[in-house]
Amino acid sequence: MKNIIQNILETHKQFTLERNWDRFQTPKNLSMALSVEASELMEIFMWLNEKQANTLNEQQLNAASEEIADIFLYLLRLSDVLGIDLIDATHKKMDKNIEKYSVEKGRALAEELINTL
Ligand SMILES: [Mg+2]
Repeated sequence: MKNIIQNILETHKQFTLERNWDRFQTPKNLSMALSVEASELMEIFMWLNEKQANTLNEQQLNAASEEIADIFLYLLRLSDVLGIDLIDATHKKMDKNIEKYSVEKGRALAEELINTL
């Protein structure tokens, strides 16, 4: 998995280097680009009801796929620029979430949420 991610990152870095875009890939700009791409993903779902959002058509799914890829690329690049090992950081965060939310606590929160709907 790490090799696949490293390969994607290197290909993306090469893409930006060849175009002289690397100078713009600062943590600030990359974090903003990441947010913009997340917004582009949300735009696909905007104004859809719950049923429509759960059953995207082929065109909508293709659009979502592209935005998710954009998000992934910016997330990878931002992590790289900041010197953060994305896989390691993700494992650590998952461990932290497991510690913070026991199964019992998580289920109680889910019940609370269901009762508000
Ligand atoms: Mg996009």
